[in-house]
Amino acid sequence: MESRKLVMELRWDPILGEWVMVSNIRSFRPWQPTTFCPFCPGTEETGYGWEALIVENKYPMLIEEPPEPTKHRFYKTQKAYGKCYVVIETPLHDIDDLSDLSEKQIAYVINLIIEKQKEIMNKEFAEYFLWFRNKGREIGVSLTHPHSQIYVLPFTPIKILREIENAKNYWKENNSCIFCKIIEIEKEDGIRLLLENRDWIAFMPFYAHWPFEIHIYPKRHLQLLTELTQSEVDLLAQILKYSLCGLKRMFSKPMPYVMVLHQAPLKASHPYYHLHIEIYGFLRDEGKLKYAAGMETGGGNFTYDAVPEENASKLRAKINECVNGVK
Ligand code: ZN
Ligand code: ZN
Ligand code: FE
Repeated sequence: MESRKLVMELRWDPILGEWVMVSNIRSFRPWQPTTFCPFCPGTEETGYGWEALIVENKYPMLIEEPPEPTKHRFYKTQKAYGKCYVVIETPLHDIDDLSDLSEKQIAYVINLIIEKQKEIMNKEFAEYFLWFRNKGREIGVSLTHPHSQIYVLPFTPIKILREIENAKNYWKENNSCIFCKIIEIEKEDGIRLLLENRDWIAFMPFYAHWPFEIHIYPKRHLQLLTELTQSEVDLLAQILKYSLCGLKRMFSKPMPYVMVLHQAPLKASHPYYHLHIEIYGFLRDEGKLKYAAGMETGGGNFTYDAVPEENASKLRAKINECVNGVK
């Protein structure tokens, strides 16, 4: 048998102009038995005596000392510098979702992530800090112990680059922030508003891509997670808890979703950018999963089989049940 080589590299798509992360590390590390939870207390990595924990991902796409990338006569590659972490959000295995944790615990988790960002942001390779959360077996999440992930990337993700481009253009034309403008518009319109507290606002975008999409903006114009004050962290925990609780109640089974933090790149200054969180709820109806299929994956534009204002109204009702403590 020929010996296989560990490949961890970035490959440049010259047609779309974006990086693809390539890693075959999974095939070099043994798969763990399904009866064992690697995120529970008392494993080699986790130990005991913690409320929440950030550990290195066992199957990273990016590492601090990556192997030499493939040299090709035509195609461009780059070393897969970076870090991949798992955020274990509670020692309790049987909690279903972030929204089932207390506000205090969610704030603790956010603070841990902020500390991690502070620790890593000055590393040379650290261009971008992406915190995201995948929830639901329906979208391939096999480990049910509550967790999210962090990718510290050597490039800025393509979606963020597009947001920066449009925010910059709006700033040039209007001398103001497009995100701040959207907060103003959503408050005026009201029909897509989901929840609001002193520091944050949650709404379903006018241009939602996914059936139950939630965007959460801080009211203060800021660019990085590390700029949040403690009271902003506490109120973010609150608005996240109730937004996700409402999402979970939409149908008889909990909503599968992806949540992601969009912030500015770590290097250089981006005054026209405005940090926010996006949550994509994937069920369009009872038991009906919306897929990114032909149009979305093939063409890149989304179809929305409903009206965002109507879905916002349904979701707002569920969020209000959570706020009012309806069982
Ligand atoms: Zn567990
Ligand atoms: Zn702004
Ligand atoms: Fe965004």
